[in-house]
Amino acid sequence: MAELRLAGRPASPGFASGPVVRLVEQKAHRVSSGDPAREADDLKKAIANALLSISALADRAEGEAAEILGFQLAMLEDDALSETAFQSIASGNAADQAWRHALDAEIELYRNGDDEYFRARSADLEDIRDTVLDHLYGSHSQISVPPGAIIAARDLAPSRFLSVDWSRGGAILLSEGSPTSHVAMLARARRVPMIVGLGEIPDSASSLILVDGALGQVIVSPHDETRAEFLKRQSADEEFALKASALETAAAITKDGTRISVLINIAGVEDLAHLDPNICDGIGLVRTEFLFGEGPGLPDEDTQYKAYRQMLEWAGARPVTIRTLDAGGDKPIKGLTVDGESNPFLGIRGVRLSLQRLDVFRVQIRAMLRAAPHGQLKVMVPMITVPSELDEVRALFHEEYESLKARGVKVMMPRIGMMVEVPAAALAVSHFKSDFFSIGSNDLVQYTTAAGRDIGAVASLADLRHPAVLKLIELVTAHGEKSGCDVSLCGDAGGDPELIPLLLQAGLRSLSAAPSLVGRAKLAITEFRFEKAGAGHG
Ligand code: PEP
Ligand code: MG
Repeated sequence: MAELRLAGRPASPGFASGPVVRLVEQKAHRVSSGDPAREADDLKKAIANALLSISALADRAEGEAAEILGFQLAMLEDDALSETAFQSIASGNAADQAWRHALDAEIELYRNGDDEYFRARSADLEDIRDTVLDHLYGSHSQISVPPGAIIAARDLAPSRFLSVDWSRGGAILLSEGSPTSHVAMLARARRVPMIVGLGEIPDSASSLILVDGALGQVIVSPHDETRAEFLKRQSADEEFALKASALETAAAITKDGTRISVLINIAGVEDLAHLDPNICDGIGLVRTEFLFGEGPGLPDEDTQYKAYRQMLEWAGARPVTIRTLDAGGDKPIKGLTVDGESNPFLGIRGVRLSLQRLDVFRVQIRAMLRAAPHGQLKVMVPMITVPSELDEVRALFHEEYESLKARGVKVMMPRIGMMVEVPAAALAVSHFKSDFFSIGSNDLVQYTTAAGRDIGAVASLADLRHPAVLKLIELVTAHGEKSGCDVSLCGDAGGDPELIPLLLQAGLRSLSAAPSLVGRAKLAITEFRFEKAGAGHG
């Protein structure tokens, strides 16, 4: 099998390698007695046994795990949860059917809730549903997971997590899931690397899998060099992580006294739950496309407004850079992006799509204008190639601003800046009327080196260290210094301690990284000293 790379959302940092154990949801069968009284009795017994098995787990659990199991016990003890199921049994349904339907309806309510907290709790309800069903079926059919295994599943119940021995390592790869689910909290607390939202995980039972939880990266059947490189990073990481965690909320200052802004990249409001705003100088990138992939259809103005407002309120006086939709390329959105492009990365993506779908774009613009009074909003436009694209976006913002204001809606005009991720934009940076620039190193590298960011076979070519990429970054930072315009970097390189020295030397004084990488980025900064020629910057 050729080397394959998958990208998901980081839920818990750390490295793991090994084969995968795939957990498939099992559907067991049970023959109904046909007698409502016996069916009700069977369900009562199954609930009582489920309470006993969860209590047994809770007795051995501590801290967060004990709290989660306590929540499950309280839910299961509450008659309101089982009431619908017993009513359904009374009207002739089998115990398992009645229980499954009642719980599925409840789970759906939680899943579709406005609040990420409730959405994340749906996994606990699934857990409760399945534990009771297991007892009804008399089956504990789940595959046993050997210690140290990498689990691949659609989602994972907290009790399933707690039944695994993680003391010898392992990791969790979920095709769905959420970084704020209980199981994600448990994984972080136990330092089990976890990645969610991976989509389809290929069936590669015998292949070696490498997991980098902090980057949200999975490599299946790695080449020897990839593996050697991974092992090197893993051992260096263990040492580094220890020192980094002590620096998370400190200011990032280089050895020669230059203060560097460290911002965070997020993909949704849920990434901010449990996060201390003091770890960062603001939000450097909100990838709004994930908001568009969540529910059925596209998110309406109010849904977007609420999400943007929550982010601004979380950050307080710190700046929050929200990016307009960057759909297309590796981020297709059903019903919005163009199907069947021969090369989606060079097609209708980012601002190109927004300017073609003004119906969708105007909704996002209005949501941003309404959210702006609630904090320090900066709007960033992806994939800008020519100045007229940015001018068009600015004109649309002004149009919507005037029309909302005329209707008496409270709005504010944010600063509007652009991503520099197309080499043509970097080379011609002085031609753009932008309020700020943010370098998207992921795309800038792939477009400069003609090496696809999702193609493992050319991964070694897609290297930020290429002198051409560094030269482009220097062009942008030099323009920023000359014109007084802010320049930051929000690609993955901003959280990579090996690349940070090069970025600082290339003139960057502001970097944005995944929240779980902030400590590491700050450690790399505090250990850095400018070479003489670059010391004049900042
Ligand atoms: C980038 O290209 O570096 C970037 C930050 O944007 P994305 O990874 O979302 O394309
Ligand atoms: Mg990009």
